[in-house]
Amino acid sequence: MEKYKKLGLKLTPQRLAVLEILDGNATHPSAEDIFREVKKRFPMTSFATVYNTLNALKEKGKLVELSIDPDRKRFDPDIKPHHHIICIRCKSIVDIHREYALKTPEAERQGFEIIGNHVEFYGICPKCK
Ligand SMILES: [Zn+2]
Ligand SMILES: [Zn+2]
Repeated sequence: MEKYKKLGLKLTPQRLAVLEILDGNATHPSAEDIFREVKKRFPMTSFATVYNTLNALKEKGKLVELSIDPDRKRFDPDIKPHHHIICIRCKSIVDIHREYALKTPEAERQGFEIIGNHVEFYGICPKCK
């Protein structure tokens, strides 16, 4: 609770539920997944409430939006830079905490200074194999 106060968000029970669902969540849920969970506790919750909370957290840098899943945006409360692998069948996403030295020659950078990278791997998870 205390750590949520620092976010500067007005904490309604629904918003708190969103925060609790995200806390330590490594499944990279979509907004719909989170909405479904919040609704179990607060059946009157609107999707907009969940969506707006996710956006507010994203803007405050407390949540990362992933585009690895072509079907829907996925969210990651782990804001430490890391990479992902997605199962092309069940769309489960797992983390890869490893640094890749991706050599990008000056000529290909077209004047850009590179400050980070995000590698997306595609594969088939053990369950789907
Ligand atoms: Zn799978
Ligand atoms: Zn992740």
